[in-house]
Amino acid sequence: MRTPLNYILLILLVAVGVQKQSSAQTVTKDLKIEEKVRQLMSKMTLEEKVGQMGQITLDIIGTSKNAGTDQETFILNPEVMEKVFNTYKIGSVLNSTNNRALSATEWNKIISGIQKAGKGRLGIPVIYGVDAIHGATYTIDATIFPQQIGQAASRNLGLAKKGAMITAYETRASGIPWNFSPLLDLGQDPRFPRIWETYGEDPFLCSVFGVAAVKGYEGDNNDISSPYSVASCMKHFLGYQTSISGKDRTPSMISDQALREYHVPSFKAAIDAGSHTIMVNSGIINGVPVHANYDILTTLLRKELGFKGLVVTDWNDVEKLYDRDKVAKNMKEALMMSINAGVDMSMIPYNYKEFSDDLVALVKEGKVKQSRIDEAVSRVLTLKYQLNLFEKPVTLFKDYPKFGSKEFETAAYQTAVESITLLKNTDHILPLGKNTKILVTGPNANSMRTLNGAWTYSWQGDKVDKFAVKYNTIFEALVKKGGEQNINFVPGVSYKMEGKYYEQYADKMDEAILAAKTSDVIVLCLGENSYTEKLGNLSNMDLDRLQLEYAKKLAETGKPIVLVLTEGRPRVISEIEASMKGVIMAYLPGNFGGDALASILYGEENPSGKLPFNYPRYANSLVPYIHTYSEIITPEDNGSNYEATYNPQYEFGFGLSYTTFVYSNLKLSKNSLSADDDLIVTVDVKNTGNKEGKEVVDLYVSDLYASITPDVKRLKAFEKVNLKPGDSKTITFKLSKNDFSFVNGKGNRVVEPGGFEVSISSFKARFEIE
Ligand code: BGC
Repeated sequence: MRTPLNYILLILLVAVGVQKQSSAQTVTKDLKIEEKVRQLMSKMTLEEKVGQMGQITLDIIGTSKNAGTDQETFILNPEVMEKVFNTYKIGSVLNSTNNRALSATEWNKIISGIQKAGKGRLGIPVIYGVDAIHGATYTIDATIFPQQIGQAASRNLGLAKKGAMITAYETRASGIPWNFSPLLDLGQDPRFPRIWETYGEDPFLCSVFGVAAVKGYEGDNNDISSPYSVASCMKHFLGYQTSISGKDRTPSMISDQALREYHVPSFKAAIDAGSHTIMVNSGIINGVPVHANYDILTTLLRKELGFKGLVVTDWNDVEKLYDRDKVAKNMKEALMMSINAGVDMSMIPYNYKEFSDDLVALVKEGKVKQSRIDEAVSRVLTLKYQLNLFEKPVTLFKDYPKFGSKEFETAAYQTAVESITLLKNTDHILPLGKNTKILVTGPNANSMRTLNGAWTYSWQGDKVDKFAVKYNTIFEALVKKGGEQNINFVPGVSYKMEGKYYEQYADKMDEAILAAKTSDVIVLCLGENSYTEKLGNLSNMDLDRLQLEYAKKLAETGKPIVLVLTEGRPRVISEIEASMKGVIMAYLPGNFGGDALASILYGEENPSGKLPFNYPRYANSLVPYIHTYSEIITPEDNGSNYEATYNPQYEFGFGLSYTTFVYSNLKLSKNSLSADDDLIVTVDVKNTGNKEGKEVVDLYVSDLYASITPDVKRLKAFEKVNLKPGDSKTITFKLSKNDFSFVNGKGNRVVEPGGFEVSISSFKARFEIE
């Protein structure tokens, strides 16, 4: 019999073999690149090398003219560029100007100007990076998709990949070859202000969607020399979004076991899928800022996970080692720590002079080895060659005729449709009839900003309404379908658009209540305004108090309410949930979210989204679906508070349809497995309703006993199927022993013999691993 250790070795060997095969095509090309890099580096001075390791923000090399008006343009400043690129030899630029979107042609102009000024005596192109996280978000008229959380809810990997391909195309149309996406952090803490940037709370979901995004951005062979591909950037390595406080960039305590079990898998999958770059977590784990953590950035990332690409810091994070985290006494020491820990490129983003001077001095003083610099620079140059920037430093809008096309918009609309998750539909309140008199109300009813969230036309999303005028808000989309005579909009509550994201006020609330009384149905659009990072920190998980009070007043009218939530994280609604007839979670569905919602409300589309996280019932019970048995209070726990048990409002994986699906015949190919066996699981699904619909079949595995307390269940596979009324399909899943493995107390991934259970829908089947 094979021991677990042998088995693990086998898995590793197989994995390595697969990797070798798939990258064989690029080997010759990369060998040539290796030679080019070697030759180029032999001509470079230390100062030139150090410059390649720096990345500045666009704003420092020019000025915005007519800022804040429609005529706003960005003018590059030749004198500053001379200093940045020729004196300090900086090799990379990021971000947009004045925190706003530009037209693709303006981007072309700026990047052409940068490439001209930046190539230096050796003709090295500058690499430009941007956060195109749900479409080319900084380019006016680009196709904007649902944020990652909605993509995960769609459970449609094909759509996620297509979205990434379109994003790559439109980012390249803007002249930009590097995208700081996908985000592979685990979204397990609903308090955190960037949950909506994740693929949700499950490591498997984050892994498969991350891979889909990497392949969409980089192409199936990761050939990023293609003018239609960009280099992806996995972020934020590692363990971001799990702070104790739930606030951005505050300390986390994560055991090595937990890090490997929950946080490593999405990065490992994306590394194996060939992603070229990775960004470091801005936070602090077990007292050590990750930007200074050699164990994470070198031992784990390079030696264990085999990552060969470029490591970039997050925004200003080297400086934070001394001015925030106080582990370094000055910038110079901070720089030494981060470069020695494994950082290749520093997102400076302003103080390039100090960065360059200090790093050159550190090398001369022997505090940073020349070999470390050479290693980092060779990675930067390799990436520039791989992106074909030496041959073609700028790609031009005129060569991208499909930019913003109907075809692209349809993909974004379809993704929005499939992401929207129907959570409650009492008495079949939905879909609505075409002649229903609807009051559409709430702060999110007539706003493009709340459909999109942050990283849309600007960092915090505060400029969305200016740039997204041509797309439909929920109210506008309903009018288009239902006609002005049937749709009445009164806000009731509005956001203070110039204020903080959570500031709001009663806006014609009495008028709205009156209007409710004369309507058939209220479509109540609540949720959050846009935010990200520290600005989105939160003190109370409950939905905003004014919104809750408003919902209660509307409920008192006795009119049926359909609650539509557009929000970045699941704000608690238990105070009002019982008085809602329908509840729809739309996440941040993007520019076509209004149209998608209207189609679903009227039944032109059948909802098929599934929650990618647990929707909490109470602010103090934020238990994810990945929990242990100890978190469930059972009748044996005498005197316990049953309200405080594991009891989410809606559980991970939940989502209704306008039709019904019935499962049957869950079967396993065997009940006892040996080391080399796969387990084939089959189940039948039937559409027993009278509407065509898509169903997501989720397969969970439970390890019944293990050397460390096992999770109650873990998602290991899923498939989305489309079924016409009366049709059924047998779904087949193939599980291998890796699907039954876990990271044990010693930090090793193992499969322990014993009992396991597969569950699909309400069916369960047991098997043994010998
Ligand atoms: C964010 C990153 C982002 C970077 C560059 C940081 O503040 O944490 O996710 O990629 O800025 O814009």
